[in-house]
Amino acid sequence: MINVAIDGPAGAGKSTIAKGAAAKLGYIYVDTGALYRTVALSAVRNGVLDDTDKIVEMLGDIKVKLGFDDDGTQCVYLNGEDVSSLIRTPEISMGASKVSAIPQVREFLLDLQRDIAKNNNVIMDGRDIATAVLPNAKPKIFLTATAECRAQRRYKELVEKGENVTYEDVLADVNQRDYQDSHREIAPLKPTDESIMADTTGMILEESVEMIINIIKENI
Ligand code: C5P
Repeated sequence: MINVAIDGPAGAGKSTIAKGAAAKLGYIYVDTGALYRTVALSAVRNGVLDDTDKIVEMLGDIKVKLGFDDDGTQCVYLNGEDVSSLIRTPEISMGASKVSAIPQVREFLLDLQRDIAKNNNVIMDGRDIATAVLPNAKPKIFLTATAECRAQRRYKELVEKGENVTYEDVLADVNQRDYQDSHREIAPLKPTDESIMADTTGMILEESVEMIINIIKENI
């Protein structure tokens, strides 16, 4: 099976680029962030988001599954319920960041991610895919863009949604998340020795997708 790992910081465009490349290559795109978000949703529903022990206990009672539509769209299920859209809220983003720092949560989601990669050609996107989930992935891509560029893209998105933000605030947020993600104790975001660095600074989406497809074709 072809297993491509794409890791990188928030806002580098990983999901959009990986989805575009997977569609063109006929591989399954796996968004692993959705799994952490689903555990967070369950923790919020059970009122245990602030209690690590209770989150760990909760893991024994929940079933998280991924499914894929015919067109490759990923759905995520919590105890059989499709929660794919419920996990896209700011509250769940924060919660996901919290639960993802718990080792037992990472362990709980590991086999699920590996099983999909064992049985399918995948492009898997996350923070620790090359370093922990799929150490044999080839190629391992580390997708980045400067903090300023990522902040600019995010700022544009938010303004288009009608949100009242300043570029400076968005940039400060990006810098803070970069720091947290790369300095956490468990599964910190970092490239491996084999990682191919792909910098999308200044590129439009189509250029980024083309760059990733070329990297994949030249390195599988
Ligand atoms: O990618 P996304 O923003 O959906 O991820 C939500 C959160 O899950 C991130 O803030 C990150 O801390 C965590 N995550 C992780 N490992 C992954 C994917 C996501 O720790 N492989």
